[in-house]
Amino acid sequence: MTASPEIARAAYRDVPLYSTESISCDVDLSDNTNLWGAPPAAQQAIRELADGSFTRYPSAYALALKEALAAYAGVHQSWIVTGCGSDDVLASAIRALAEPGQSLAFCAPSFAMIPVFARINGVVPVSVPMTATWDIDPDALIATGARIIYVCSPNNPTGTTASRAALDRLIAGAPGVVILDEAYAEFAEDSRIDLAAASDRVLVVRTMSKAFGLAGLRIGYAVGTPAIVAEVEKSRGPYKVSMAAERAALAALAKDRTWVAARVADARASRDRLAESLRTLGLAPLPSQANFVLVPIPGAAAVARQMRERGVAARVFEGLPSIGDALRITAGPASMMERAIDALQGALACA
Ligand code: PMP
Repeated sequence: MTASPEIARAAYRDVPLYSTESISCDVDLSDNTNLWGAPPAAQQAIRELADGSFTRYPSAYALALKEALAAYAGVHQSWIVTGCGSDDVLASAIRALAEPGQSLAFCAPSFAMIPVFARINGVVPVSVPMTATWDIDPDALIATGARIIYVCSPNNPTGTTASRAALDRLIAGAPGVVILDEAYAEFAEDSRIDLAAASDRVLVVRTMSKAFGLAGLRIGYAVGTPAIVAEVEKSRGPYKVSMAAERAALAALAKDRTWVAARVADARASRDRLAESLRTLGLAPLPSQANFVLVPIPGAAAVARQMRERGVAARVFEGLPSIGDALRITAGPASMMERAIDALQGALACA
């Protein structure tokens, strides 16, 4: 049902809800989470939560978690803001850093929620193409004059990374603020978290949903100078990280780093093997540094339906700029990848 104009603010009228059907199938490779599971100390922390602890509010701004994340990121806690997933951090940052009517530029295709977060905050999304080598185009981004420039590296859904040179050029020339989304940084060869210290107009956004295997607990954070972080914290508001989430995250950061590093190594190896198997099927996956692979396939939606009938879910993209239709497949344990390749092979044979 569409809301009548008097009820909703104008900018909300065409905003869609996030549309992934909840997937119930044997092998769900659709959401880039950690398919090896959740880290053991975090699981233990959840089991040990005292019964009475839920009656009170959690810490307003999750100071203990900020301290642990600061140690992980190599900064002081005043450089960290947390949130209910990095979705919350990104939306809060856009609200804090741009006036309604200003614009947010990004290289397409990128994280599908970014134009939505812009619009629900009255900010106008503007997309520019990626380069032919899947890099960001700093000059085209700067030329938009946008108040916020969003870069995702490794990029969802392509898995490709922004080059150091392009990022440096972007930050030198950006007219406003740059948000660098590093949700998948742990899986990549390189991180540019250093850029948060290089400029007071840069915010690097991270999450515990991917490498740390805690997507269901919703813990995201950003790193930036105390000045920029303080503004995002105002916008984010208090009590955004639940008590359970904070306890589990603290346990994971203190005791599960070795487990996370081992799973990251597994995910990288699995991703590279998956890309190789896709090439063997005659497909041309994009070069990924994340925990997933994007593979262009004309008619990807029909192929995905056939895969679902074989018990495997992948994420469908239709008509991506300079790519067309594609499937995004999360890298997981070998048994899941074998199921995925078999299902894809079967689906392609039916197409
Ligand atoms: N950024 C990117 C690039 C993502 O792919 C995602 C999740 N799909 C997010 C942010 C949000 O993740 P979360 O809210 O779970 O931290």
